[in-house]
Amino acid sequence: MATYRGPKCRLCRREGEKLFLKGTRCETVKCAIAKRAYPPGMHPFRRRRLSEYGLQFREKQKAKRAYGVQERQFMTVYVNAQKMGGNTGANMLQLLERRLDNVIFLMGFATSRQQGKQMIAHGHVEVDGRKVDVPSFVVKQGQKIGIKQREASRKLAAQNFELVRSRGVPSWVSRDEKTFTGDIIDLPKRDEVSVPLNDQLIVELCAK
Ligand code: SF4
Repeated sequence: MATYRGPKCRLCRREGEKLFLKGTRCETVKCAIAKRAYPPGMHPFRRRRLSEYGLQFREKQKAKRAYGVQERQFMTVYVNAQKMGGNTGANMLQLLERRLDNVIFLMGFATSRQQGKQMIAHGHVEVDGRKVDVPSFVVKQGQKIGIKQREASRKLAAQNFELVRSRGVPSWVSRDEKTFTGDIIDLPKRDEVSVPLNDQLIVELCAK
């Protein structure tokens, strides 16, 4: 599957907002959005009025970039959200938010979603005591997430945790910094989703 390996800050600048793709750097004055809050490219100040399709497309790109999901995976999330019944947009946001890489990031054991993805792929993360190495794993209410009881894993999580200690955790997860574990207390509600997205625009585009 194709992976974007270019400059991450460029993605934030294209979307015109912080997507928090580079860990602690995103909170500093070095953030490219703080320094150059205009789109990348040759003519950043040319005024462009986006069409309806353009607005829908940008919103979908923002979601994919923030959660680090490729097109095919994103469409799988959309199809699964449809199958759940009810509001497809809200379901889609919930499925993205419940991805294991996002949960590790929200709990503060990784400084970014990308790092969370890497930690999971390298076998540092357990769900209900069993190793899970799939970043797209969708957590369920009541599950216990933990960092593997291995010195290297705990050391890495502790270092990350120190860097993002001041960042709070959303109400639907809890974390215990002493045992390097966390619980999924509830399912995320629409207003608790960590990336501000207009799900309606995304659903309109995906349904075409
Ligand atoms: Fe985005 Fe972080 Fe780069 Fe700022 S530092 S532009 S938030 S990736």
